[in-house]
Amino acid sequence: MKLLEERIRKDGLIKEGNVLKVDSFLNHQMDVELFNRMGEEFRRLFPSEKINKILTIEASGIGIACIAAQHFGNAPVVFAKKSESINLDGDTYCTKVESFTHKRVYDVIVSKKYLGPDDHVLIIDDFLANGCAVLGLIDLVQSAGATIEGVGIAVEKGFQTGGKLLRDKGIHVESLAIVEAMDAKTGTIEFREQ
Ligand code: 5GP
Repeated sequence: MKLLEERIRKDGLIKEGNVLKVDSFLNHQMDVELFNRMGEEFRRLFPSEKINKILTIEASGIGIACIAAQHFGNAPVVFAKKSESINLDGDTYCTKVESFTHKRVYDVIVSKKYLGPDDHVLIIDDFLANGCAVLGLIDLVQSAGATIEGVGIAVEKGFQTGGKLLRDKGIHVESLAIVEAMDAKTGTIEFREQ
């Protein structure tokens, strides 16, 4: 998606440790008009009428998922919560996710009330790096007996392993921008043609 690539080139900051900061339009301040265009694009890429739920993970996926949902017949958005303590009363699905940016492992939960066997789920997140967050979400969907219709990502870092890992599993992954290479020293960034 050229519009997103241009915005990343203009306002993205490349940090040491393979981190791309996009706080000015995506991760802190949010450009809702851009999110709306991204939502349109997700709909074009995932035309299935079966999609009846969008699943994301707090916090950064929520804004993108909510705006995208308006292009999916206002499908409800469920966000997996990062939990400090494991809930033992059996009313949640739980998995573990290692955070790329915070370098720690979280328990991540979704209430059984909001995900079940009738759901056809589109997973949406802001970034795909090593794939831990998305694999955690997939685990939650599978625990619920729901169907994964696809994974929509705003920015994939194509030089990390997550995209290949998920596609090799046969999962339909679409990323609006794929960073092929980036260099913190020179500030240069290359996108994959798609
Ligand atoms: P993964 O689980 O695929 O390794 O990493 C994806 C998660 O880590 C995303 O939910 C995102 O919040 C965060 N993340 C990974 N890499 C970056 C990055 O370069 N920039 C930002 N802003 N977040 C990232």
